[in-house]
Amino acid sequence: MVQYQFPVSGTAKAQILEQLQALRGADANWRDGRTWSLVYYGGEEISDLTRQAYQLFSQENGLNPGAFPSLRQMETEVVSMTADLLGGGSGTAGNMTSGGTESILMAVKTARDYARAVRPEISQPEIVLPVTAHPAFSKAAAYFDIKPVYVPLTEEYRADAAVARQLINGNTILLVGSAPAYPHGVMDPIEELAGIAAQHQIPFHVDACLGGFILPFLKDLGVPIPDFDFRIPGVTSMSADLHKYGYASKGASVVLYREDEYRQHQFYVRSDWPGGLFASPTMAGTRPGGAIAAAWAVLKLLGRDGYSRLADTTLQITRRLKEALIAIPGLHILGDPLMSVFAAGSEVLNLYAVADELESKGWHMDRQHLPPSLHFMVTQAHRESVDVFIHDLQQAIAAVASHPEAYAEGTTAMYGMVGSLPDSSLAHGFMRDYLSSMTRRN
Ligand SMILES: *Cc1c(COP(=O)(O)O)cnc(C)c1O
Repeated sequence: MVQYQFPVSGTAKAQILEQLQALRGADANWRDGRTWSLVYYGGEEISDLTRQAYQLFSQENGLNPGAFPSLRQMETEVVSMTADLLGGGSGTAGNMTSGGTESILMAVKTARDYARAVRPEISQPEIVLPVTAHPAFSKAAAYFDIKPVYVPLTEEYRADAAVARQLINGNTILLVGSAPAYPHGVMDPIEELAGIAAQHQIPFHVDACLGGFILPFLKDLGVPIPDFDFRIPGVTSMSADLHKYGYASKGASVVLYREDEYRQHQFYVRSDWPGGLFASPTMAGTRPGGAIAAAWAVLKLLGRDGYSRLADTTLQITRRLKEALIAIPGLHILGDPLMSVFAAGSEVLNLYAVADELESKGWHMDRQHLPPSLHFMVTQAHRESVDVFIHDLQQAIAAVASHPEAYAEGTTAMYGMVGSLPDSSLAHGFMRDYLSSMTRRN
């Protein structure tokens, strides 16, 4: 017997809205800058506009651009504006997707189908990607039957380009670099990787899901951001998430290709379906009009000026936080992260215990491993909270130092257990069980 049965009769609208508000009570508090991931909050003016834009188009469907010229126009503008921002030329083409993962799935599928067309001798395709590349790439490899080949990092936490060169072989259909990679916020050597890919005549994808809508503005502010986009000749495709530093509503990303001809391999078409001629550009069938409208609205609201102002504020807060962290004995920043995402590591502190202690004080923390670190993604939402955080962090470190045994059962135990398992299949079983338990029916 399931616990939640299908409701026999309806509930009053006012009561439902009350319940929705109540449900939010236990959620992570991003609005007051208490989270370091998941929500990229640009402030109330932006939120308000995206909410209204989303609402206006919440029933419209981007599946059929013929029926909704409004959505077609907005998507065209969003893709075009993004291509312009990222150095695209007249041939650059792209689509909006539901997020970074879908953009990446499409880029990998496109590379696979392109290889099938032009290099039919390849029977077991491989993609060469840094270990820090987002799991969406290995997910794509798993879904599309491609072998992932991982490039290790240098001591600076960047993909080791020399090793990448050696890992490319006759089966390689795609090389990947991140601008920057999520775990440490460090930029891969994009120009070098692009050169290697061009030499081997293989496509090269730059994952700018995280950096796409902030790096260009930081560069304008004088931050020494190296070129990372279509301005570099060997870059053939890119992903950039509107719902991260683009501050759009969730469900919006852009995948771009240098040439429309290459993009053709992304499309799915079928001409013999009784339901009609079926043509779909990306993974999704029905596509939410609201996500397209909200993304369009925020790009128009902010423009280059607005994004630069937000980037400036974000940069100031990031500097403040990094300076405070490195002043704490035993803590250091991993590599040289240029934007507002970075990781703090330690050889002496138990960071998992510190994170547990901070969570008991109302912070939502992100733990990483290999090596252990805490992850930070800064937005203007941390303007007020950053000093409180620094204070709470110092207190948390002191609390852990005085009672280390009190934290033995927390996430320290979980990471310790996963790390000590003799082979990954046991860890995978544990993680699958966790997913089941988080998504069970009662
Ligand atoms: C967030 C992220 C992704 C995946 O994006 P989703 O929108 O979460 O699917 C891919 N790459 C990088 C670098 C990211 O930060």
